[in-house]
Amino acid sequence: MRPAGLLEKLEILADAAKYDASCASSGTSKRNSAGGKGIGSTEGMGICHAYAPDGRCISLLKILLTNHCVFDCHYCINRKSSNVRRARFTPQEVVELTLAFYRRNYIEGLFLSSGIVKSSDHTMEQLVEVARILREEHDFRGYIHLKTIPDADPGLIHQAGLYADRVSINVELPTDAGLTRLAPDKDARRIEGAMGGMKAAIVQAKDEKKRFKHAPKFAPAGQSTQMIVGADAASDADIVGKASRLYDSFKLRRVYYSAFSPIPDASAVLPLKRPPLVREHRLYQSDWLMRFYGYEAREVMQATGEDGMLPLDIDPKLAWALKFRERFPVDVNRSSREMLLRVPGLGVRAVNHVLAARRQRTLRLEDVAALTVSIAKVRPFIVAADWRPTLLADRGDLRALLAPPSEQLELFAA
Ligand code: SF4
Repeated sequence: MRPAGLLEKLEILADAAKYDASCASSGTSKRNSAGGKGIGSTEGMGICHAYAPDGRCISLLKILLTNHCVFDCHYCINRKSSNVRRARFTPQEVVELTLAFYRRNYIEGLFLSSGIVKSSDHTMEQLVEVARILREEHDFRGYIHLKTIPDADPGLIHQAGLYADRVSINVELPTDAGLTRLAPDKDARRIEGAMGGMKAAIVQAKDEKKRFKHAPKFAPAGQSTQMIVGADAASDADIVGKASRLYDSFKLRRVYYSAFSPIPDASAVLPLKRPPLVREHRLYQSDWLMRFYGYEAREVMQATGEDGMLPLDIDPKLAWALKFRERFPVDVNRSSREMLLRVPGLGVRAVNHVLAARRQRTLRLEDVAALTVSIAKVRPFIVAADWRPTLLADRGDLRALLAPPSEQLELFAA
C-alpha cells in the first residue's frame, strides 16, 4: 500500500482524535453547510475548543500522532484488532502542521494524543519530542495539551509537564472491573499512580514558583481526565463517586464524560446502542454541582433512583430538591449562600445578585424573576417578601409540573 501523504494523514489522524472529549466543549447539535446552504459546520474534526487558564476560549489543532496501537481496548476505534486506515506522523510533521496553522491564525494551540506504537516509552518520547521542538526550537508560546501514557517512564511523563500547559491521563472507565474487561492492557493502579505523580509535580512546581521567580512552570493548566459513559454497567452513582474521588485525590481541573458511541467493527462485548446524550449532560450538571454549588458526591448520589441512575427528564439539582422538600422553601432575604445555591433555577450568578441586592432592599418575587430564565421552576422553593409557596411546595404532582416536555436535550444548551 502506498504511504499516506501529509494531507491524507491529517484527515485520518484528526478523524481518529475526535473520540477524545478531554479537551472539548463538545456536544452541540450537528450542523453543516454541505448542501450549499449557509456557512460553517459543527461536524468537522481537527480543530476543537478549550478554555485557557485565563478563561479564554481557544482553538486547538486536535490530532493523534498515530492511530496505530498495540493495545486492544474494546471501545476504541484505533485498537489493534480494528480494521481502519492507519497513519503515523513524525514529530517534525506535527510541528510543521502546528506552526503552519498557527501562522494562518486557524489555531492557538495543539491537543496531541496517540495510539501506542512499539512501546509506551517510545510513544511518550515522540509526544514529548513534538512539544520540545515547538517550545525549544521555535519558541512556540501557544497552548499545548499533551495526552500522557500512564505506563510510560515517570521521567518522560514529567518532561511532558515541563513543555505542556495541560496534561491528561484518561481513567477510561468508572470502575476497575470495567477497565479490566474492556481495556485488558490497562491497569487502574498504574493510571492512578501516574495521576498521583503528576499532581505531586504540579504542587511542587507551584511551591517552587512562589519561592524562586525563575523556577520552571509545570503544567500550569493542571491535569484532566476522561471517563467513557455507557460502555459498561457502571451507574451514574458509580461515575459521580469516581469523579469526586479523582478530584479530591489528584486535584484535577476537569473530569470529562464521553458518552460511548458505537464504532465500526465493534467488539461483541460492547453495547449495541450509545447511551442517550442527555445522560452525559446530566453527569456534567452533577459535576458542576460538586465543583461550583457545594454539593458533596453523596448528595448528588441521593438524587439518583434505586438503580443508581440520575433522572433524564429533570436536572440533578431539581431531583435533589424534590427529594428533600423539607429543606425548602429558602428565604431569599435571609438564607445563606449555601442554601440559595440549592434552589432549582438559581445559578451562581443569580445567587450573587440576590446576595448583593438584598443588602439594599427587601426582595420580592419579581426581583428574583428578573434573575432567572424560569421563575416557575424557582417559585416552589423560595420565600420572598410577597411570596410564600404554601400549597405549591406540597403538591404531589410538583415533579410533573416542573419537568420539561420530553425531548433530547442538547449538551450545554443555554
Ligand atoms: S491504548 Fe486503547 S484507547 Fe488508546 S489508542 Fe490504543 S486501543 Fe485506543
